Amino acid sequence: MSALLTGRTPQFLDLAFPGTLVVLDFDGTLARITRDHRDAKLSPRSRAALTSVAERYPVAILTGRRLSDAAARVEGVPVRWVIGSHGAEWPGDRVDQRTWRVMVLGWKRRITPFVQRIAGAELEDKGLSLSIHYRSAKRPDAAAVAIGELVARLPGARVIPGKRVANVVPENAPDKGSALWRLAVDTGAGRVLFVGDDDTDEVAFRARLPVPAVTVRVGYDARSAAAYHVGSRAGVDRLLDNLASLRDPASRRRRAFR
Ligand SMILES: [Mg+2]
Repeated sequence: MSALLTGRTPQFLDLAFPGTLVVLDFDGTLARITRDHRDAKLSPRSRAALTSVAERYPVAILTGRRLSDAAARVEGVPVRWVIGSHGAEWPGDRVDQRTWRVMVLGWKRRITPFVQRIAGAELEDKGLSLSIHYRSAKRPDAAAVAIGELVARLPGARVIPGKRVANVVPENAPDKGSALWRLAVDTGAGRVLFVGDDDTDEVAFRARLPVPAVTVRVGYDARSAAAYHVGSRAGVDRLLDNLASLRDPASRRRRAFR
C-alpha cells in the first residue's frame, strides 16, 4: 500500500476533517471480479469495512452497473448515493433520457445476433448503455477484437473499455469524470477520495475537480492518472479500515497528543 494510505501523511489525515466525500467504484474495488458479472457481491469483510466508513463519512458508489443493480448489492450499508451507468444514472434525476434509451435499444437490436456468434460474449442491456462482457471467453483477445469491430460501426456510440467488458454509451452521455465533478459540487464536498480499479475510472482520476482530491487505483498501472494505488482489492478493505479509524474518538485523541 502506498505510504499515503497507511495513514501517517498530512494528505491522508486531512480526510478526517468535515467535508470529505468518499466515492467508490464497485466491481474490482469493493467486490471481487467474478466470472459471471451477476455473481459479484460484497464479502462480509468488505461489507463491514464499507459500513464502518459509511457511518462516519458521506459515501457514494459510482459504477458502470445499473443504479438499481448496484443499489441492491450495497443494500443495508448506509451509503448516501448510488450513481449508475458510468455516471449517467442519478437517483431522482428528471433529465429526459428517452432519446438515449431509444438509441441504445437500436444498437441492441442491431448487434444482438452478432454478439451471439462471439464465443464467450454476452450482451447486457443497461437501459442507458450496453455492456458486452467476455469474462468467460476462452480466447479473450479474439473476442475483444470482434467486439471492437462490431461496436465501432454503431452510430452515436462511444466505447469505454473495461476489464473483459466493452461498455457502449451515447457519445454525449456523462462519464465517471463528469459524475465525480457533479458529486463534489452537489454535495458541497470540501475534498474527495475516489477509489477505482479499471480503465473506466481513469476519466475520474484525471478529472479537474473544484476541490482537492485523493485518487487511488487498485493494482499498480504505470499509465494510470491516479495519484496513489493499493496493490490488490484486499488493500481497499484496509484503506477503508484506516479511513474509519481516522474518525474514531480514540484515534482523534492520539493525534491530539502527537
Ligand atoms: Mg471497477
